[in-house]
Amino acid sequence: MNTSAILLVGNGRVITRDDQRPLVENGCVAIQDCLILEVGATADLQQRYLSAQFLDARGRLIMPGLINAHMHLYSTFARGMALKDAAPGNFVQILERLWWRLDKVLTLEDVYLSAMVAMIDCIRNGATTIFDHHSSPGAIFGSLSRIAEAAHQTGLRSCLCYEVTDRDGIEVTNMSIAENRTFLESCKHSPDELICGLFGLHASFTLSDRTLARCTRAAAELDAAFHVHVAEAESDVIQCLREHGKRVVERFHDLGILGPRAIAAHCVHVDDREIDLLQSSQTNVIHNPESNMGNAVGCAPVLGMIDRGVRVGLGSDGYTCDMFESLKVANLLHKHQSGNPGAAWAEPPAMLFGQNSAIASACFGRAIGQLVPGALADIIVVDYDPPTPLTESNVNSHILFGVSGCAVQTTIIGGRIVMHEREFVGIDEREIMAKARAAATKLWQRF
Ligand SMILES: [Zn+2]
Repeated sequence: MNTSAILLVGNGRVITRDDQRPLVENGCVAIQDCLILEVGATADLQQRYLSAQFLDARGRLIMPGLINAHMHLYSTFARGMALKDAAPGNFVQILERLWWRLDKVLTLEDVYLSAMVAMIDCIRNGATTIFDHHSSPGAIFGSLSRIAEAAHQTGLRSCLCYEVTDRDGIEVTNMSIAENRTFLESCKHSPDELICGLFGLHASFTLSDRTLARCTRAAAELDAAFHVHVAEAESDVIQCLREHGKRVVERFHDLGILGPRAIAAHCVHVDDREIDLLQSSQTNVIHNPESNMGNAVGCAPVLGMIDRGVRVGLGSDGYTCDMFESLKVANLLHKHQSGNPGAAWAEPPAMLFGQNSAIASACFGRAIGQLVPGALADIIVVDYDPPTPLTESNVNSHILFGVSGCAVQTTIIGGRIVMHEREFVGIDEREIMAKARAAATKLWQRF
């Protein structure tokens, strides 16, 4: 074997997320091309792969990169921006006064730059895979390929989709369906381990039955699943009951939107019958605790869903690029909501490290989120010198209370070192930030 093409990431405490061997002290991960070759003791692997490149973790944590299962890269340029109207008082006003104004004035260059900036932030905070949900009604054609271009440049593994909605008229609806179609066809014709696609839908309250029927036909032709916002605010449910005589999950279930590869973000306002439908259809529910709290839409009953066998992953909804932060907020939200300090110890880490891994692996078609032979080599090195014993049984507690995104030192995606000791490899971060600020200044004027 030519061991010069092998990268060893060693001399660290390896958290594998493999039940057979959760923690390897003084451990090492051997990487060949984009995949993990093996995990073992540093001395052993160094001896066997004599000419391999060695990346020294210097006693820090070596763990799988994080997965953000619901993200909006395009929200980047909203940071610090003043709204023109009074502060929104409810969820629909947040959409009308902020997001539906911002997305309309995005150019293709803004789409690319906001993706670059947010992807850099994701990598810096240890995310190696994201599921993005994109909208830019003024610049639809080619928007997903510009985001894919940013993903290739930064190295971030990305599942992309364009959000179809009826809110901007039939022309925009047609173009949005076409953008999903074009992008999904390109994914099929040139398979790429870094990029894949879903069919994007906004939400029940902005989609007619007719448009949803067109989308399900198109998605079936493309063998694509949906990524959609589900019952995020109570107003979505009220509108659905009024217009369609059923609740949101029931409506989506009846129209064939749900399924084992579908991503249903939020599911805050769902009743027991709908939870059964999510379970029986094996739909992936994505919990976004910070966003739900920030938009004051309520607390998704995800602990109950997990008890009843629903697969629940974790996303940030664009609120943060730091999934360690989302983990902490999920832990706190459910303790606060239930009035029980004993609640939500197990579920948030299971969402972030277990279910997100299963969702990403199914979507990209290869094992992601575990340090095991054959899995994609998405790995982070995290600076953490614990003041107390770290064992295989308390790893999640250490991560919850001791680790945040700023402790991530090195990020490797598909075997490619994209950030090394906090420095990006192959991209000029400062130049991109400067271009982004110039573009954002102009965008704020158009907003
Ligand atoms: Zn969202």
